[in-house]
Amino acid sequence: RLYVEQSLRQGEGVSLTREQAHYLFGVMRLGVGDEVLLFDGRSGEFRAEVGEAGKRGGTLLCAEQTRPLQTPPDLWLMFAPIKKARTDFIVEKAAEMGAARICPVQTEFTNSERIRRDRLQAHAVEAAEQCGGTFVPEVAELARLDRVLADWPEERRLMFCDETLVGAGEALAGAPGPWAILIGPEGGFSEAERVRLRAMPQAVAVSLGPRILRADTAAVAAMTLWQSHLGD
Ligand code: SAM
Repeated sequence: RLYVEQSLRQGEGVSLTREQAHYLFGVMRLGVGDEVLLFDGRSGEFRAEVGEAGKRGGTLLCAEQTRPLQTPPDLWLMFAPIKKARTDFIVEKAAEMGAARICPVQTEFTNSERIRRDRLQAHAVEAAEQCGGTFVPEVAELARLDRVLADWPEERRLMFCDETLVGAGEALAGAPGPWAILIGPEGGFSEAERVRLRAMPQAVAVSLGPRILRADTAAVAAMTLWQSHLGD
């Protein structure tokens, strides 16, 4: 299964990049006439056949559609970037578990001030290729949490994962529609951020249990909890 940027249409040729050609012909050992499944994140999945196979490129011929586009629920995963490998893990799992958009945010106690958006986007693509998804979530640029909250859309509810809550927190009841999950950095949220988040009418403060989870574990637990209550 391969993600391609070009929009897919039955009967049209698809040019491969050098990396894709290396993967298909060098690593997977495919040759002319062999089949590949393609998706572009917008039109669903298509069967394709290898037309030309070279070391630096190649062409696939796009045949019939095998599956329609399956768009995930309108869920954003917002998280404060942590160490590189753990941030990669969060992006990969968010894409596998059906986030529609992945938004790194800089909080008061976030250590990293920079992310490699292109690298994280590539992880989201790989995760979609691997898990059979036909949609690839967009990884947004790193944005400051206070600015994001200042422009927060009225209709988007926010599952604020707060490790300082005693008890279960608020219930994640029924309301479908746009949602976001927010996970803090290793140092947690500042008191000012917590006060601001709790005052937002769209926010639901949620506990993920009595133990303090690492941010990457918390992201997976929060997405699982959200999916079990509100996912489809
Ligand atoms: N400040 C904390 C500390 O050192 O005591 C740790 C923060 S935790 C590593 C990172 C983030 O994961 C938190 O900000 C929160 O969003 C989420 N998290 C971890 N455990 C949680 C829990 N039991 N309930 C809700 N959220 C949790």
